[in-house]
Amino acid sequence: MGEKLAGKPVVQSLRENIISRVEALKEKEINPTLLLIRVGAREDDLSYERGILKNCDLLGININVLELPVTVSMEELTSVFEKANKDENVHGMMIFRPLPDHLDIDVIQNLIAPEKDIDCMNPVNLERVFEGHSTGFAPCTPKAVIEILKSYQIPLSGANVAVAGRSLVVGKPLAMLLLDENATVTICHSRTKDMPAVTAKADVVVAAIGKAKFMDEKYFGEHSIVIDVGINDDGNGGICGDVDYDQVFDKVKAITPSIGGVGLITTTILLGHVVQACENLTSTKKKPSLV
Ligand code: NAP
Repeated sequence: MGEKLAGKPVVQSLRENIISRVEALKEKEINPTLLLIRVGAREDDLSYERGILKNCDLLGININVLELPVTVSMEELTSVFEKANKDENVHGMMIFRPLPDHLDIDVIQNLIAPEKDIDCMNPVNLERVFEGHSTGFAPCTPKAVIEILKSYQIPLSGANVAVAGRSLVVGKPLAMLLLDENATVTICHSRTKDMPAVTAKADVVVAAIGKAKFMDEKYFGEHSIVIDVGINDDGNGGICGDVDYDQVFDKVKAITPSIGGVGLITTTILLGHVVQACENLTSTKKKPSLV
């Protein structure tokens, strides 16, 4: 019988930690502040934004949303980042993607100051992940996977972990974070020969391939711990994971649900990064004297 690895208790414990750190900052009259930059009004962005606003409210994090027209030029956007990089009252910032075609993402990602880059857009932060430095900001989804595994006390040191997917936002950085935890990592992708033979042998399998319910019972064994990162259209107006949860649930040791699993944690990780950025940027500011 499989165990459901729900994201909710993980979020709860992360929130408690963040709230106490926000309180400590506010005691020093520092308000951790996020600048959210949105170009246009895509429904996906608006929905993500609503989630971030709600969570900021809950955690006591200040948020400013800058809405720019879809016609915004590279020059205008560059000046927005330059200003925000210098602004002492902005501790973390992110811009929703994808951006309109006329905006060059390769240029934009380098414009965000690494110390305020809470969504790991600047290659400097990704490089730190690959170098094994914990000083930067890792991408939120891979970090959410590590949090869920740690929170459920799943041993990673020496464990065999198979990561299905090698994108730069999920699979590759996740493999690096798992290596930092001393796991033995195998990365699978679309050219992997006989992927079920690889994943079924692993202690932990992370599914991040972007294919609805693609991984069925042949990819796992009774010993498998399954972390499903996938968010896919299920063809019936809903969403589903990369793993066929209903078919697999009873046949593995533990599995994250496709809704309420990894995806539930990522916004909290993102906002934890705002607090981390704020702590780093203001670490020399003393608590105000009472006299
Ligand atoms: P992606 O950029 O499309 O990458 C998919 C990866 O899966 C590629 O490396 C691809 O291999 C591999 N792949 C595709 N089909 C495969 C197959 N049949 N067998 C083995 N490997 C296969 O996707 P992504 O951005 O990494 O996202 C992956 C999933 O995670 C998506 O469902 C996405 O929606 C979800 N996601 C969730 C969150 C969250 O917060 N939970 C955040 C980001 C993404 P090749 O490299 O060989 O093409």
